[in-house]
Amino acid sequence: MKSGQVALTADRPTGRLHLGHYVGSLKNRLELQEQHDCFIMIADTQALSDNFDNPQKVVGSVVGICRDYMAVGIDPAKSTIFIQSMIPELFELTTYFMNLMSVARLERNPTVKSELQQKSFSDSVTAGFLCYPVSQAADITAFKATLIPVGEDQLPLIEIANEIVRRFNRIYGSNVLVESQAILGSTQRLVGTDGKAKAGKSLGNAIFLSDPSEVVKQKVNGMYTDPNHIKVSDPGRVEGNVVFSYLDAFFDNKDELADLKARYMKGGVGDTSIKSILNDTLQKLLDPIRDGMDLMKDEDIKDILLEGSKKARAIATQTLCEVRDAIGLRY
Ligand code: ATP
Ligand code: MG
Repeated sequence: MKSGQVALTADRPTGRLHLGHYVGSLKNRLELQEQHDCFIMIADTQALSDNFDNPQKVVGSVVGICRDYMAVGIDPAKSTIFIQSMIPELFELTTYFMNLMSVARLERNPTVKSELQQKSFSDSVTAGFLCYPVSQAADITAFKATLIPVGEDQLPLIEIANEIVRRFNRIYGSNVLVESQAILGSTQRLVGTDGKAKAGKSLGNAIFLSDPSEVVKQKVNGMYTDPNHIKVSDPGRVEGNVVFSYLDAFFDNKDELADLKARYMKGGVGDTSIKSILNDTLQKLLDPIRDGMDLMKDEDIKDILLEGSKKARAIATQTLCEVRDAIGLRY
């Protein structure tokens, strides 16, 4: 029996899913789909906002992302998986919401600011990219979602969505839209394999769920540890050591990990040993996921997406009727 609450989250089809998605959001989605009405959106329109000149990349990533969902255990019978661009009502809602958000407020958003630094249009941001948080507010509210399983980079965006909800309900004297809250993952922001603050699809510093075991091993071996830990007997640093950040996220036996850290800090544990422990841990996690990846044909995945999009559109259409009515757009 489901709770009646709605959980919604999304991924940008800019590549396959990685370990950051797993600990930041996917694990929570698996729990949420058991108790709530779960919607998972593949945000192709949003991905175009910074990939408008490379639509093939976006369109070509949609089925792979859905394949990753299934492989980790997202069940289309429990979670509605759909494609953003197939729900035109979302873009109508975005238009109404644009009036409720100032450009200055959008420019202050720390997530957008840091993303802009990484993107090619840092000098003159497009209107589409600056406004993607408004469109994200439409995605959340169209489904009256209250639970959003995400990594911590999404917190400022959920705040913007809630501001829009409050403003809409106040100005149009309605209670059509509902506020939402983030459900943060066991690791809220997994660092990149290069030690940068966040592993990201577009940053080239992630271990993908679909990486073959040899690639995972190479990426683990290439991780930054402690530059002063040269001989095995040298004392090593754990903070800022990417291998330990990943062990914190993925190694289940916390007592054993605490003991390993203590021994590493004292000196006597080599980087090869900690990398080998991490590699074993990750391969154990990824083996069954990789095995589940080839179980479905592309055609069957596309059918799931079309079916999910039909179901999602019916719900968004209903909310849009209520929104138009609240504004007074009745002709
Ligand atoms: P891109 O680089 O194209 O933005 P991404 O890797 O950041 O891709 P998104 O599709 O933007 O992935 O994010 C999907 C979800 O995964 C969001 O909820 C986001 O917070 C979460 N997420 C992404 N990267 C991480 C990470 N390194 N740690 C924890 N959560 C993450
Ligand atoms: Mg991102």
